[in-house]
Amino acid sequence: MSNVFSIVRRGDERLLRITGDLPDGFEGVPAADGAYCPLHARHAALVRETLPWTAPQLVGLRKSFGFGDRLGLATPGHLDALANLPESGFFPVLAQQSMREMARARRSPQQVLDDVTWAVLETGYRDGYGCDADHVKTEAEIDRCIDAGFIGFTLDPGQYVRAAADTEDAAALWNRFAELPWDVLRSNPRRHLERYAAGPEADGALPEETLLRAAGKYGAAIARVVRLHAHLRSRFGAAPFDLEISVDETDTPTTPAQHRYIALELDRLGVSFIGLAPRFVGDFYKGVDYAGDTEAFARDYAAHAAIAEELGPYKLSVHSGSDKLAIYPYIQRRTPEYVHVKTSGTSWLEALRVIARKAPGLFRRILNLAVEGYAENRQSYHLDGRVECIPDVPDDALADLLDDPHARQVVHVAFGPVLEQYYDEAYAALAEQDKAHRQGIRRHFEKHLAPFRE
Ligand SMILES: [Zn+2]
Repeated sequence: MSNVFSIVRRGDERLLRITGDLPDGFEGVPAADGAYCPLHARHAALVRETLPWTAPQLVGLRKSFGFGDRLGLATPGHLDALANLPESGFFPVLAQQSMREMARARRSPQQVLDDVTWAVLETGYRDGYGCDADHVKTEAEIDRCIDAGFIGFTLDPGQYVRAAADTEDAAALWNRFAELPWDVLRSNPRRHLERYAAGPEADGALPEETLLRAAGKYGAAIARVVRLHAHLRSRFGAAPFDLEISVDETDTPTTPAQHRYIALELDRLGVSFIGLAPRFVGDFYKGVDYAGDTEAFARDYAAHAAIAEELGPYKLSVHSGSDKLAIYPYIQRRTPEYVHVKTSGTSWLEALRVIARKAPGLFRRILNLAVEGYAENRQSYHLDGRVECIPDVPDDALADLLDDPHARQVVHVAFGPVLEQYYDEAYAALAEQDKAHRQGIRRHFEKHLAPFRE
């Protein structure tokens, strides 16, 4: 007799129910309607083996949307939004969390993947999903994510990017060029100059100054990617994995010529990738709309897209992509296929909206903590929110603060300290309001997906 797997709720607890004879490896308490098994990592791994649609798939070049979920509660709402807007054409990346956010939310890569496994089983969704170990910076982080079952990675060599190369003088540029890690880059200064300076018609030719600035800015970062990629390859052997390269969290925009240099170098060094996240022009503050000239963005985006088409195709990846409603139409128009939009913190803000409505006292304490800690919390983020600009509102209007750009950014980056202090209360409030939470997430993401309809 074949087994039926389902998630059942008993009070606050969720359990895996399996009908029929309990398959090998599962342990549960027998009852008249099946065995009840705890939701732990070993069971999650067995479920992924037994029911392949609960396991992550390779995303490849499919048009995709990253639904990061810091609390591990948002997947049902994400899937509802996608089910209502299939014309957006996105393949969902559900198990996505950056290493920084995992540390702050005190969730492991294993929990991130397992929470999605259970949510997919519970909702009955069977159309597949991808995973993204986001902003991975070290071999040790890669290992943790592989051990958890991740097959998708975004490598972030941002700390090796040198923005100074955009402006420094020729002497400094030449010095820097000579000092690049040429062993890892499998070249030397003379050969490199010849390769890229071989006349304007040559494939990938770059004027000397442009080359020196691109190499000075991104050469060490490229070497870092080569090393991390070699590590991934050593772990995966011949098996495929999804790879994205991101330099979005850096100070100065990636020029189209610099993008071209990065892509040509990665290709020369045998690193193949499905997506690249340049640092676009303008400001991508977390959880609020695009700040900058949207026409300038459209021109910049089009230039990057042309390079990704010519040298790939690979997808342009738009990070900090939540709430950037002003630029979605340009993105859809220019890259109706080869695009990945990555969001994460905005789901946390929708959870806070539910808390603001249903548990105003808790929300006030969360807000106070966020305001007090903002100077520290904001440090690794790109933001322009200011605490002194957050309006004073009565309890019944607290949820409106989630529409205020300053309050949004301040609470956006506070989730680490907030969870540290209010973890149980926040999860209890959301468990009590799980329908409202799911609906709130759905509505919010419908707004994100609608501009991408084909
Ligand atoms: Zn990013």
